[in-house]
Amino acid sequence: MTDAPLAGRHALVTGAGRGIGAAIARRLAAEGARVTLLARTHAELEQCAAPLGQAAQCLMADVTDGSAVSRAFESAAACFGPIDILVNNAGRAQSAPLQRTSEELWQSLLAVNLTGVYHGMRAALPAMLERKFGRIVSIASTAGLKGYPYVAAYCASKHGVIGLTRALALEVAGRNITVNAVCPGYTETDLARDTIANIQNVTGRSAAEAREAITRVNPQGRLIQPVEVAHTVAWLCLPGTEAVNGQSIAVAGGEI
Ligand code: NDP
Repeated sequence: MTDAPLAGRHALVTGAGRGIGAAIARRLAAEGARVTLLARTHAELEQCAAPLGQAAQCLMADVTDGSAVSRAFESAAACFGPIDILVNNAGRAQSAPLQRTSEELWQSLLAVNLTGVYHGMRAALPAMLERKFGRIVSIASTAGLKGYPYVAAYCASKHGVIGLTRALALEVAGRNITVNAVCPGYTETDLARDTIANIQNVTGRSAAEAREAITRVNPQGRLIQPVEVAHTVAWLCLPGTEAVNGQSIAVAGGEI
């Protein structure tokens, strides 16, 4: 036993194979939690989990598949005990003007970014209600708090995550379960690198110009680092933040 603040807690992080999710998994493990890392790519999960040793396990599941999520959560609990902390982080972005947003693109972004969060909440909630403890944090985006052009499906999915967060927070407010969203601005991950590449392709700008276009959005003139998002998630899971419920916290240098 240690006296780390999250010792004895089991945290499950979706999309933990790289980027923001990997940073969250590392941070929660550093606070003493046992961490289940979930995504679809085994090799990336193994690479992130290896340095965490016995405190981490990996599970493969696609968050768009509700039964796969339920099975994965059951198997996570069988090894590390009931899930105390759920971080819904898995997500993807793809841009297109609305006129060129196909039904397929629309449905696929909503499936991962919004329905995936619903699947996670639904799978984790029964044990949280039974044990009268739970911390649910979903990684939305500044795109859940304001509009951006050419990413209507992404914006709609992230606004949906914030609505879902607010509703569930009220449903479970009396049960020692908090439900919050963290809303990063452009963050230095593969997803942001893809955005930069896309701006280059569509506008013919150089990589430096495309990067400058997305850093300019942040009044601090920089990209957010994954550890900064992880720090906010950890704060919401540590003792002392019980009164923070139903909130959508921007980590965006003042953009919001
Ligand atoms: P990355 O692309 O770096 O990582 C995404 C992670 O999600 C990967 O581990 C990926 O693994 C996993 N994932 C994707 N689809 C699924 C799926 N269907 N089922 C299970 N896992 C999945 O993205 P970021 O770290 O940048 O983004 C993390 C979250 O933060 C997302 O929700 C994103 O929308 C949000 N965000 C990101 C911002 C940014 O600028 N980077 C800004 C604001 C919000 P695999 O493909 O193996 O499944």
